[in-house]
Amino acid sequence: MKANIEKKVEETIRKYKLLSKEDKILVACSGGKDSTTILYILNKLGYGIEALFIDLFIGEHSEKNKKNIRKFCSKLGVKLHEVSVKEFTGYSICYMKSVLNSKGNKMKSCAICGSVKRYILNKYAKKLGKTKLVTGHNLDDEAQNFMMNLLKGRVSMNARLGPKAGVVNDKKFVARVKPLYFCSEKEIKEYSKFMKFPVVYEHCPCSVDAFRRFLKGQLDELEKENPTVKLNIINYFIEKKLKLKNKGVGYCEKCGEPCSDKICSMCRLVKALR
Ligand code: SF4
Ligand code: ZN
Repeated sequence: MKANIEKKVEETIRKYKLLSKEDKILVACSGGKDSTTILYILNKLGYGIEALFIDLFIGEHSEKNKKNIRKFCSKLGVKLHEVSVKEFTGYSICYMKSVLNSKGNKMKSCAICGSVKRYILNKYAKKLGKTKLVTGHNLDDEAQNFMMNLLKGRVSMNARLGPKAGVVNDKKFVARVKPLYFCSEKEIKEYSKFMKFPVVYEHCPCSVDAFRRFLKGQLDELEKENPTVKLNIINYFIEKKLKLKNKGVGYCEKCGEPCSDKICSMCRLVKALR
């Protein structure tokens, strides 16, 4: 099992040319099982990595994760950078959600959190002179994302998915890659437990998207009958992705960061909070 997941990561990196030994890599670390696992494996494989933890201020959950990732990075000898979501927006994720909801904007915590994290990660990776940004997305995440976009009628958003995410050839955009793309949540959890990584296995208390939870339950159920359901979904996606076009990249009129509209989602969010 241990060798299996490490082999899968190596194969994914090689097949999709995700990373090279010359890359300066920033690993987005939440302190959870996925990012802790990929941090460990990339370090073991000899890649030049540093880690970034974004403090989302999700109460006790963020505190435990922060403590764990500090301990783990120090044990591995990997440099850890820390940044607070409040530096960029002035608020925690939960507070942003309640302010937006009180103004009639029904954005869910994960949508807010996703936009904020994407923005901060790209900005920090550039600031630190990194050439690649690694995230801990796994096979389950990607199959759910693909199905959610499909069922909600926003197929074009699938252009952002895949082992290499979104736009990769822009000077202001650090390419995001997902070496755990073909590893299931189940095998990562087993590996993380086997390796005794310091990780909290409880779900984030803000992850209350009922549709995603429903979809996850359905896919898990289907896999009891056919263990390759999620893999089949992402293989289908990879085949079709060739035909999906990114909207192209422009720069936000307010902050100058890359985005596909006139104003980036982070600046729109900050404006909506005022
Ligand atoms: Fe953010 Fe949602 Fe993940 Fe919690 S579950 S850390 S709110 S994206
Ligand atoms: Zn902006």
